[in-house]
Amino acid sequence: MYDPNNVFAKILRGELPVTRVYEDAHVLAFKDIRPAAPIHVLVVTKAPYTSFDDFSVHASKEEVIQFWGGVRETVHALKLSARGYRVITNVGADGGQEVPHFHVHILAGKPLGAKVCA
Ligand code: 5GP
Repeated sequence: MYDPNNVFAKILRGELPVTRVYEDAHVLAFKDIRPAAPIHVLVVTKAPYTSFDDFSVHASKEEVIQFWGGVRETVHALKLSARGYRVITNVGADGGQEVPHFHVHILAGKPLGAKVCA
C-alpha cells in the first residue's frame, strides 16, 4: 500500500525543498540529503509506486520507458557518461529501502570500488 505521506511524496508535492537536477512529466531528480559519494542524485517516479518491485510489476511499458528515459536525461545533465557512475535501487527490508517510493540512486564522482554490502 502506497503511503502518500512518505518523504518523496512530500517533495513531489513541493512541501519539502530539494536541489533539483532534472525534471520532466514523469520523474524528478534531486540531490540526496546524505550523499554517499561526491555525486549522489535520486531519480523518483512522479507516479505513486512503492518500490522497483511494485513498479516492475504494475507499470506499463510506456511508463518503464519514460522512467529510464528520465534516468538517462539525469545522467546527461550531470555529464557522467565519460567517467562513469553507478545506478542502484533498494527494495524492501533486506534491500535497505528507507523511503517507500520507487527511486534509483545515481552515484558518481570518484572510483566507487567494489559492490560491497555494509
Ligand atoms: P533508500 O534507502 O530508500 O533507497 O534511500 C533513500 C534516500 O533518500 C537516502 O539516501 C536518504 O539520504 C534520502 N533522503 C531521505 N530523506 C530525504 C530528504 O528529505 N531529502 C533528500 N534530498 N533526500 C532524502
